[in-house]
Formats: sequence, structure tokens, C-alpha cells
Amino acid sequence: MMISSVYSNKDIFLREIISNASDALDKRRIETLKNSELAENAHPEIKIEINSDSKTLSVSDNGIGMSRDDLINYLGTIAKSGTKEFLKAAKSENDEAKQELIGQFGVGFYSVFMVADKVEVITRKLGGSETYKFTSGGDGSYTIEDAPQRDECGTTVTLFMRESKADDPEAKNYLEEWTIRGIIEKYSDFISWPVVFKDKTINSQKAIWQRPESEITEDEYKEFYRHLTHDWQEPLTHIKINAEGSTNFKGLLFIPSYAPFDLFMNPESGGVSLYINRVFIMNDFKDLIPGYMRFIRGVIDSEDLPLNISREILQDDPIIRVIRRSTQRKIFNELKKLLEKDRETYIKFWIAFGKIFKEGIIQDREHYKNILDISLFRTTNSDEWTTLAEYEARMKPEQEGIYCLAGRDNLTALKSSPKLEPFVSKGYEVLLMNDPVDEVILSDLRFMQPDDAKKLLNIANSDVSAQTEDEKKADEEKTKALEKDFEPLKKIAMEIFADKLEDVRPSFTLTSSPVCLSGGMSFQMESIMRSVGQLPTPPKRILELNAEHPIVKKLLAMAKDGSEKISDMLKTLYDQSIILEGAAPDDPADFARRVNELMSLALGE
Ligand code: ADP
Repeated sequence: MMISSVYSNKDIFLREIISNASDALDKRRIETLKNSELAENAHPEIKIEINSDSKTLSVSDNGIGMSRDDLINYLGTIAKSGTKEFLKAAKSENDEAKQELIGQFGVGFYSVFMVADKVEVITRKLGGSETYKFTSGGDGSYTIEDAPQRDECGTTVTLFMRESKADDPEAKNYLEEWTIRGIIEKYSDFISWPVVFKDKTINSQKAIWQRPESEITEDEYKEFYRHLTHDWQEPLTHIKINAEGSTNFKGLLFIPSYAPFDLFMNPESGGVSLYINRVFIMNDFKDLIPGYMRFIRGVIDSEDLPLNISREILQDDPIIRVIRRSTQRKIFNELKKLLEKDRETYIKFWIAFGKIFKEGIIQDREHYKNILDISLFRTTNSDEWTTLAEYEARMKPEQEGIYCLAGRDNLTALKSSPKLEPFVSKGYEVLLMNDPVDEVILSDLRFMQPDDAKKLLNIANSDVSAQTEDEKKADEEKTKALEKDFEPLKKIAMEIFADKLEDVRPSFTLTSSPVCLSGGMSFQMESIMRSVGQLPTPPKRILELNAEHPIVKKLLAMAKDGSEKISDMLKTLYDQSIILEGAAPDDPADFARRVNELMSLALGE
């Protein structure tokens, strides 16, 4: 029951088994190409048989087969962990979590228990001499035993079909020829190996990417995506490529709807399948698509490539480079179209993959502008996403560029940065760039054309200000007038923070915060640099004290009188400014002690 509630359609069990058989034939082909001692598969095929006497349905392939270890690792693990995880997934209220769990644990094979009470797998691995029988009842246990020798390597999966309940109107008889034929036609038509049933090849084996776009249905795209990726979610969108000219190739690419869990951690993940003239060559080929597009899945097929299996040689092939360039261009165009025509879907794409896509701004100096043009950002104005062009259209006439602030992951934290106050209080919109790569982008814009670089104004830089020349002058005068009163406090602060601060200054632009750090580099950048050992001396910053804030006014008076408490107060303000920058105080225990003392004071203890 649990199994069925996850898969709304039981028919797909057959698709899963056929898909595995097809993968096994692909793998055997790759092995034989790599190892010349292995003979080529003379009659590759997937054979389906039904037996109404024994009430069994079997799917045989002469693909790579499985060793005893493979059985334990691939099918055994699923049989064992599958049950528990499966029940968890099935019970989950959250559809996305459900899909993800299913995808993650590869319960494809497990779907047979929607229709069968027992499954038997007889298999012999390519190059191996032993044949094994794996049996499981879908109850979390399994057995593996020796079996009579199979003539050829490959696998036969036999399902002992469950009697369907007489009162179930939707029950289908999977031992009936027409039912099986219909399912194969529906789900497995594009499988590139012959699927043979009742001595006839049922599937057309037509590669979907070779067919004209107008003839392919949405369902076919989705089925193909599933076959290719084993992803249980539907793709967000697909991109069909039909390049003709000096280099001919076809492609069918997909953007998944969520990021697999290893995508961020592993920059080496991803890649597309490469076919040469309709013949499968390899999975996960990275060189067809730049690293920052590694979330894209799909197939590229070219007639012009040499039939050479070696990745190393293919990597340097000039045709691969041409394909890569033109595929990249096509992806940019299609994403741009998607942004213009279907913003809702585009935003989903951006939330899932924007972080990775933006890596290209620093990696791909040739195309950084293409990426920036279709990048989305959060801003101080609203919770909507915006493009740079949209921001520019809203810009105030006196604004010389786009105000940006980069910072930590947490958007709420970034939104409350005191650095925003002078800008927001004057009604300026500021881009909130909270991905790790944003900081790196803003830290050095020299890779951009000067015209582009000067448009992005990092408000953390001291030369970017929200003030007019007149306002700056007025502030300078205020600073001067305050100089005498400010000096004692500055002196104390500079003594305490001699190794951390370059200066202590009064500020007239902060509105609600008493303090703000400026200058130097951001704490995030500092920790990045430190982690790569590129920071011999820690950067010094400027402590800005809001001259109009009651706390600061009090401190100014205290400094003149030489109060002892002032050191703790200044340290706490400084720690506060560090916390607002997304970093932690140097001495957290001392920070806690000071805060507790203040609390005791407030509580009248
Ligand atoms: P997935 O196919 O998504 O990895 P499955 O549960 O369908 O998950 O299968 C688990 C694994 O078992 C496969 O990845 C494959 O290694 C192995 N396997 C399943 N069927 C076959 C087969 N017919 N031939 C060889 N290996 C197979």
C-alpha cells in the first residue's frame, strides 16, 4: 500500500526494469570499447517474457551483469535500506522531500513490489564465470545463492506477480500481452536497444533528439529525462539543439527542477551524455558544457566526431570546442527567453542554480556579461527578484551606478547591515548579494570592461557614498566642530584596538545604529583569504561612531571625565559591529560577561 501511494501509476515498474537493462547494455558496450580482450556483444537486446502458468513476468538483458558484490551493494542495499527509507518517503507530507528521497535511494528497482510478491534476479557479470540468484520479497531481507551457469553475461529479472484483488477496478493484468505491449510503447519507445516481446522488436529505438521538435510531446520529453537522469521530479524545462553548418550536432538538454545534493560540494559533478552518430559513447562528459552550467543534464550527438572513446583525446578535439561554444550560446539564449516569457519558472531555476551559474561571472571572462544580464538579485526595496536592467530603470537620476552590498548567506542578516542605513534612509535601492561568489565578484571588478565595472558600486567601499558634495562638506564641518570633544574617546578606543583599527571617526550618516565598521575587507573575504593562506597581516578597519546616537553622546561625555566603564562599553560596541558584519567577537566569553553585566545593571541588581 505504501509503495503504491508513492508511485501513482503502477505501470512504471516495467519502465524501471527496462531502463536498468538498457543501462546495463550501455555499460557493457563501454567496457568492450575500453578493453579489446572483450568480445563485442553480437546480439544486444532486452527480452520480455510472460508465463501465465507460473504467473511470472521476466525481463532479460545481455548487458554487463552483476557480481556477487554488485548484488549486495546495488540491490541488497536497496532491499534493506529501501524498505525503511521508502516507508519514510511514502509517509512524508512534503511531496518534494518524498521525490528527493526516492531519487536519492534509487528505489527504481524496488518499484517492482507494487505488482509482485517476489523478485528473482539471475545474473552473470561480464568477464566473470559465476552466476548468482538474488531473491527478495520486498520485506527488507534478501538471499543470494549460486545458480546454474548462464550462457552469456547479463541479467534476468523475474517478477512473481501478485494476484490482483477482484474488487479493484484499476487492477491491470500484467500477464496479458496487450497490457505489456502498451506499456513498452508508452514508456520505452526511445530505448536505444531492441526491446523484444513475443519475438518482435516493440520499440522504434528512435533517438528523441533526432526527431523534429514539432513531433515530440511533452510526455516524451519527460519520459526521456527520467530515463536519462533517474530523477523523479519533472525537469523545469528543456532545450533542443539542432546545429547545422561546419559542425553538425543535435542535442537535447534539460534543466532539472532542483539541485542534487552533491552539486554544490562537488564542482566535478554533472556533465552530459555524448553520442556519436546515435551511438552512445559516454555519460557525464564534462567538456561539452562549462563548469558553471554543470546542473544541465542531457544528450549531445554529433556525426562529425571521431569514434574515439578516450576522454583525454576527446577533450582536446577542436570539434568538441565548437560544440561547446555553440551549446553555451544556445543555453544563454534559451535562459534569456525563459526569463522574458516565463519568469515564474525562471525564478525556480534561479533559486536552484543561480549560485552555481554566477560562478561563471568570475570563471568565464568572455561571457560574464551574458551571465550578469540574466542574473537575479534581491534588493532592499522588496522581496521580489530583480535583474540589473530592471534596477537601472528604477535608479534615481543622480545615481551613478548600481549600489550593491555583498555579505553572508543569511539574507535577513545582510538586510540589517548598518552599511545600508545611509543609502536606504535617502531612498536608494541596494542589491543584497548574499551568495559566497558575490563577495568575490565585487572584491575585484577588474576582469570586467571598464564601463561595466564602474556601474557596480560596492557600498562597503569608502569611496561609494550616498551623499551629495554639499552634504559631505556639511559633515566635514560637523566633524571638525566635534573634533575636540571626540579626541578623548578616539584616544581610548585606539589604545584598546591598536591592532584592529586604523581609525575611529564620527559618522553623521548612520541613522539607527550606534556603530559601523568600514574600510579594510569584509570578514567573509578575510576568512576566505585566511583559509588559502593569503593573509600575512590582518586588515585594519575604521570604527564609525554615530555622533548623533544617545549612547555615543554619553560615551563622549564619559571619555572626557575619564570613566573606567568606558573600556567595556567600547568593546561591546565594537563586538556589536563585528556581529552585524556576520563575524564573531574575538573573545566571546568576555563579550557575554559584558552583556550580562549590562543586563544586571538594567535589572537593577
Ligand atoms: P538506479 O537504476 O536508479 O541506480 P535501481 O534501483 O533501479 O536504481 O538499480 C540499482 C542498481 O542495480 C543499478 O544502478 C545497477 O547498478 C544495478 N542493476 C539493476 N538492474 C540491473 C541490470 N539489469 N543489469 C545490471 N545491473 C543492474
